[in-house]
Amino acid sequence: MSDTIFDKIIRREIPADIVYEDGDILAFRDIHPQTPVHVLFIPKNKSLPTLNDCSEADAPLLGKLLLAASAYAKREGFAENGYRCVINCNRGGGQTVFYLHVHLLAGRQMPERMS
Ligand code: AMP
Repeated sequence: MSDTIFDKIIRREIPADIVYEDGDILAFRDIHPQTPVHVLFIPKNKSLPTLNDCSEADAPLLGKLLLAASAYAKREGFAENGYRCVINCNRGGGQTVFYLHVHLLAGRQMPERMS
């Protein structure tokens, strides 16, 4: 059974600064923000450790995560200016919490290069 820190946030066993929730998705502020806006979007009802664990059946869920991020950006008023969505996959991709999540980063100019 998956029991990462994000499972605990979903179960409200540890606190988080939740900014959005619906039937499928929970979004909360990253505890170590890399940018002025740094929000994590996670699936609530299906625990997938990494992007590698997603199958065709998870395509709607992956779409919902990205759409929830863009809807948040529009609501908060920075969609037009711009933002970045990132999924880190496995250690080599910089993943540290093995519960699928999308980083939404905004509030400063992002470098054009990814590294
Ligand atoms: P990743 O490196 O892609 O796995 O991202 C994991 C992110 O989770 C990091 O940016 C951490 O700062 C963030 N994080 C870890 N623990 C917490 C927590 N308790 N609440 C909010 N964000 C967290």
